[in-house]
Amino acid sequence: MLLHWFRRDLRLRDNPALGSALRESGGQVIPVFVLDDTILSSLRMSPARVRFLFEALHDLDAQLRARGSRLIIRRGDPAAELRALAERCGASGVRFNRDYTPYACRRDEQVSAALRAAGLSVAASHDTTAVPPGALRTANGQPYTVFTPYFRAWRAAIEQEHTPPPESDLPPFASVPEAARSLPLSEPPALPGVELPRGGETAGLDRLRAFLDPANPHGIGSYGAERDVLALPSTSRLSPYIHFGCVAMVTALRGALDVARAWRSEASDPPGRSSRPRHNSPISDRHASAEKWIAELAWREFYVQILFHFPYVLRGAFRPAYDQLAWENDSALFAAWRAGRTGYPIVDAAMRQLEAEAWMHNRARMIAASFLVKDLLIDWRWGERHFLQKLVDADHAANNGGWQWVAGTGTDAQPFFRVFNPVSQGKKFDPQGAYVRRYLPELANVPDEYIHEPWAMPAEVQRRAGIRIGRHYPAPIVDHDVQRARALALYRAVR
Ligand code: FAD
Repeated sequence: MLLHWFRRDLRLRDNPALGSALRESGGQVIPVFVLDDTILSSLRMSPARVRFLFEALHDLDAQLRARGSRLIIRRGDPAAELRALAERCGASGVRFNRDYTPYACRRDEQVSAALRAAGLSVAASHDTTAVPPGALRTANGQPYTVFTPYFRAWRAAIEQEHTPPPESDLPPFASVPEAARSLPLSEPPALPGVELPRGGETAGLDRLRAFLDPANPHGIGSYGAERDVLALPSTSRLSPYIHFGCVAMVTALRGALDVARAWRSEASDPPGRSSRPRHNSPISDRHASAEKWIAELAWREFYVQILFHFPYVLRGAFRPAYDQLAWENDSALFAAWRAGRTGYPIVDAAMRQLEAEAWMHNRARMIAASFLVKDLLIDWRWGERHFLQKLVDADHAANNGGWQWVAGTGTDAQPFFRVFNPVSQGKKFDPQGAYVRRYLPELANVPDEYIHEPWAMPAEVQRRAGIRIGRHYPAPIVDHDVQRARALALYRAVR
């Protein structure tokens, strides 16, 4: 009898530790999730993630029950709880999947040592990423700190290995002994007014299937062309499922590679020979589009390995000189940014999307983050913390990587002198203002030509649009051109 300790691998399929525990024990596996107070107290500030987590646990329990098993819930110190459960049920060991954040690495070391000291066998499997974070090194044996060469090595690695074939099905589970007492699994906490995705493997796999469907007009085939169009549902929205391990990276990657390979071979077929239906956009574009999505998965893995090798990035800049930046940290400006009341519609729409959905489009994250750092001159760590509290997909590695990229303090960061202009970003990625109008209903009747700079509307146009700037919607809280020059001076001072 073995315990499988679920953590950030809330799924049955493509679950390496669970699969091998089932095979090793002939199905005698007790699935357990420990509500760890350290994690719960850090999550307490993040209600969207708590809800998603509980939904994922319910989904896991339902799937286990359909297979004659059930999920055991315990609460407290993981080492003590696992040990007590193993004793009660006569289990001889504990199996789990690795997690690579600094906190998880420390915890797993301590828990493993305590369990071994109690005479239990402990084994951890690789999971969380397709390519383990320590596996790829530069020619000098150093971790990669620049994305493009990392991506080249990663792309070759996943082509040759690291995407094992799908399991045909899981071996059967034996029923969980009565002695394994479980706490009741509480209902997911309600979060009124926030439109959240449903947590769990079942919903995650549905979403992945829909995104990879070649017939989906906003799926993987159009990702390359549409991924930056803010108003379209053109990205996968799989981030919370990937974060909580409801969908394995290898499952997502395998699916995308299959689609990419099919389009590649179709593109090289002479016309007339292919039996597949022809699509509107050329097959070569669709193939490139699938490759683009695969590269986004690589960004995730890049940041996981950055955090693994350089855990200090959670405390400060990857390049420590940038810890000397003299931020102004004006708390009134910070409050306006959080509330989506900066007077710059594209920034405000992004921040209101975060409030309404606990999620934000990637382009919007870049624009909102850049505005905080380079227009409001506020320490990127303030924004990082706010995103961690609000995002349903909040992930230490990806969030830190994204913020340091925008702030220009990180590994493969955008150069410090590149400052997003909120007006031109809006015009480029939301040309008709559909995204802005969706989240800022007060601007619904503003004509397209003013939607990204409503302060420029003459009084008569404001009257016709039923809005007064400064009254119904704020005038800009800062002047972008002035702030851009000040930001550059700030950065130059520490270079
Ligand atoms: P898709 O475009 O469909 O991409 C597929 C998957 O690839 C994503 O689900 C995600 O797992 C991964 N991915 C895509 N882009 C990135 C990226 N730039 N960096 C790392 N992984 C990526 N992503 C998070 O998962 N959690 C975060 O807390 C997070 N914080 C961010 C903060 C900032 C300031 C920025 C600029 C980016 C952040 N990202 C974060 C990355 C990215 O914005 C989200 O992963 C993406 O918007 C999720 O939407 P999607 O699932 O539709 O992505």
